[in-house]
Amino acid sequence: MIIYGTKPVHLKTVENKIIKCANCEKQGQMAFSYFSSHFHVFWIPVFPYTRKGFSSCTNCGEELKPKRMPEHIRRAYKETKKDTKLPIWQFSGLILVTVLIGFLIYQSKADDATYAEYMTSPRSGDVYRYKLGYDEYSTLKIAEITEDSIYLIPNEYVTNKRSGISEIDTDANYGQLMYGYSRDEIERMFKDEEIYQIDRE
Ligand SMILES: [Zn+2]
Repeated sequence: MIIYGTKPVHLKTVENKIIKCANCEKQGQMAFSYFSSHFHVFWIPVFPYTRKGFSSCTNCGEELKPKRMPEHIRRAYKETKKDTKLPIWQFSGLILVTVLIGFLIYQSKADDATYAEYMTSPRSGDVYRYKLGYDEYSTLKIAEITEDSIYLIPNEYVTNKRSGISEIDTDANYGQLMYGYSRDEIERMFKDEEIYQIDRE
């Protein structure tokens, strides 16, 4: 279950010593309060979506939302609102997600570079993870390498999930038979992403 919702946060209250209250007409008793509501998921603020506020008179106690403020009060209210910054922590979730995505992209690019390097300089014992068909994954282990061929021992098992590879990639699952592939064919499989990962011990 995902718990989410919105939460208003008090940003600041600013006293205004110049304007007069429209109700009691006393000067210098007005204060403006500002709030920012943010959307949260599991209480982690994701992003703020609205800024609201009201005016209050410390003398007569009248509180007004912007819509009901007389023009001169609303002008002062808006002026002060301009200087009310949203706290960065209200963006925590958004920042977290951005950093996470950035990290995953970086990680995946780094992995791709590693696999490309393993592809151009294969070693016996390397394990190619490959896709046989829809929801079918297995591995091929390099047994021998010659100038133009690579001899691979196929895994005797197939899994229906990419994450299932770690369970089937055991020594016992590789038999005696090996098959020769031309290096061009292996490279084509890698380019076409049939071979999508290369493991090296
Ligand atoms: Zn008043």
